[in-house]
Amino acid sequence: MAGAKAVRAAETSDSSRRLYERIGDFLVDQRLDADPGNYAFAYHLLANPDGPLARAVYALTDGGVRLTQRDIETLGCEIQPSPANQAAKERNEGLAARTQMQVEGFQDMVTAMRAETEGFGRDLAASAEAISRSNDSGAPAIDEVARLTTAMLDRVRSAESRLESATREASDLRRELEEARDNARRDPLTDLPNRRALEEAYAAQAEVGETVCLAVCDVDHFKSVNDRFGHAVGDRVLKAIAEALSQTCAGHLVTRYGGEEFAVLFTGVDIESARATLDTARIRVATKRYKLRESDAPLGEITFSAGLAGANPGDGLSTVFHRADRLLYSAKTAGRNRLHVECPETDG
Ligand code: GH3
Ligand code: MG
Ligand code: MG
Repeated sequence: MAGAKAVRAAETSDSSRRLYERIGDFLVDQRLDADPGNYAFAYHLLANPDGPLARAVYALTDGGVRLTQRDIETLGCEIQPSPANQAAKERNEGLAARTQMQVEGFQDMVTAMRAETEGFGRDLAASAEAISRSNDSGAPAIDEVARLTTAMLDRVRSAESRLESATREASDLRRELEEARDNARRDPLTDLPNRRALEEAYAAQAEVGETVCLAVCDVDHFKSVNDRFGHAVGDRVLKAIAEALSQTCAGHLVTRYGGEEFAVLFTGVDIESARATLDTARIRVATKRYKLRESDAPLGEITFSAGLAGANPGDGLSTVFHRADRLLYSAKTAGRNRLHVECPETDG
């Protein structure tokens, strides 16, 4: 009995180990970071090899195409939010709750003021009637009117000061909401707009039917920069690339799409002009001499590769992004530090 139990436990631990190893092999083969998101993705894929996720991955990777981080995001897989995202979510929930309280506070204040004004109006009407009905001088009724008016003035003053402080609070809240809205669309490392901002800008351009092209840029062998010089230096390199792209592509939307990837939304220019601008940025990044701040030692060449595709009418962002991404992949396999552009569709 105890022996059978031990055999079962050994089998379970063996199959866990095999699954764990296959997950590791998959991440290495696909050149994916072993972060919780990718790990969870690989787990779902390999633990259920006949499931719909596995079929979708097989369709994408048939012919040896490597999965991109985006493929994983598109294919989807529930993962826990990162602590930073969780904190931002909690901050936003706090803001939403305060806004709700503010609105309710305003409503209560207005209701109370209306009730007081109505009461005052009624009392005043009653006093006026008493004055007109009285045969004598009407002095008591006039006294009553004076008392009511003084009381009402006090209330108006107090309501004014409550209203003033509520207005101040509301404008603080509005500022905080605007900041939160902006933060949600900005990458804190490079200060560039992020993927969410790109999605919104693309949707806005598509709505007005503006001609757009999209470039997806990915730093070449960036892992090796981190490995050789450390993550902090890698971060500084990302900032420098962000700056070069922003300056060269001024007037277009330069975003940090994620990790060491940037996306540029070119608006109102044809694909040839976008290509020329992006190539200037590529050369600018590739010819800059990067040095370690601490020792002045050179970092060596830093380059990026890019794919550039034009959006056809009706294309969603993911469609044009996918095309640009495939071109980026071909630029990588062709040797990196280059830009691959979609050939314009020809008739016939
Ligand atoms: P390839 O030319 O094929 O693009 O090679 P690569 O090394 O750039 O690509 P890979 O996807 O293997 O590695 C990307 C690296 O980028 C791994 C990851 O740690 C690093 N990275 C992603 N985001 C950041 C970041 O915010 N800061 C730093 N320093 N590194 C980052
Ligand atoms: Mg990458
Ligand atoms: Mg890269």
